[in-house]
Amino acid sequence: MGIPLASAARLAPLEGRAPTVTTVCSHSSLQIFHGARAEGLPTIGIAVGRPPRFYDAFPRGRPDRFLTVDHVSGVPALADRLREAGAVIVPHGSFVEYLGAEAFAKLEVPVFGNRAVLAWESDRRKEREWLESAGVEMPARYEEASQVDGPVIVKYYGAKGGKGFYLAKNREALADFRPTGPYVIQEYVLGTRYYVHFFYSPISDRGYRVGHGSLELLGMDRRDEANIDELYKLGAQEELLRAGIRPTFVVTGNVPVVLRESLLEKTFEVAARIVERSIELFGGMVGPFCVEGIMTEDLRFKVFEISTRIVAGTNLYISGSPYSDLVEPGLSTGRRIAQEIVRAQAQGRLSEVLS
Ligand code: ATP
Repeated sequence: MGIPLASAARLAPLEGRAPTVTTVCSHSSLQIFHGARAEGLPTIGIAVGRPPRFYDAFPRGRPDRFLTVDHVSGVPALADRLREAGAVIVPHGSFVEYLGAEAFAKLEVPVFGNRAVLAWESDRRKEREWLESAGVEMPARYEEASQVDGPVIVKYYGAKGGKGFYLAKNREALADFRPTGPYVIQEYVLGTRYYVHFFYSPISDRGYRVGHGSLELLGMDRRDEANIDELYKLGAQEELLRAGIRPTFVVTGNVPVVLRESLLEKTFEVAARIVERSIELFGGMVGPFCVEGIMTEDLRFKVFEISTRIVAGTNLYISGSPYSDLVEPGLSTGRRIAQEIVRAQAQGRLSEVLS
């Protein structure tokens, strides 16, 4: 038996019934609903304003029914109705971002995964403490501009989507930086980006064992980021700056990638250490998470961020990925979430995967 994350009182509405997979209609929700349906679970979509019209175009991804709120901040007020429906909330990036980590942590409805992870992920300093104490290599961090000895990226706190990030190719160029809020200065790592989709199951006793459970690799993507990804077409940075064009990292899409097979071992080791440390720090991270890093030319994997829930890059693999197909044909992350709920319930272990 592993670590209980949810009280019996919180799980009481789920007794003797199939849990209703519930999420906000956005981000990766079509995949989440599609996966739940494949595992025979009912679904509820929480729509902001009104149900997105384009959902009509995707009958296999559409939820069984909708609840509507004016704004995501209205979700906590739905708690009674959601408990009555036997809901299990599946968090995704937009849901947590728009509701706020604090309000999300207080939701009076069972949530898939360990909600204690939010406090560690939503604060860049705590996230670094977690990853570094797990022995994961991260981009160097400079306390002072005077310490900078190479290219850097300056990140604002909470600047989600990388908007307003500042790039400087050396200390001299950093002198032009005029901060507009709290920020961190990080080594700009030269290499290739990989966003690696893992799934940690605390109740599985087969496969790549970590803690009491096991770690699965379900996919990988690279993000398309406007305008940085195509900026080279316009020429050198100085020219662009003179023209008033600054680089931004606004995610507009995702492309599939695979790693050299010999690099998979390193990636698994990094993810395993992150999971093991999460168990020591806050009872463990459960379900999907994404390790976001840069592979350098000397094949070091420097992790700049971890997302502790389903990421939108998994939408590439609704019918399986080159990795998940080696676990089970056609397996998506959304479907894997539903499987975990079904299996935990069958084993009387829902308290280990819900919080
Ligand atoms: P999101 O919440 O959308 O993931 P964010 O605001 O937390 O974004 P990061 O994920 O840290 O920001 O970074 C955004 C993008 O900036 C990355 O996807 C990557 O392209 C680039 N980036 C971040 N850190 C580094 C680094 N140290 N070196 C090089 N590029 C980086």
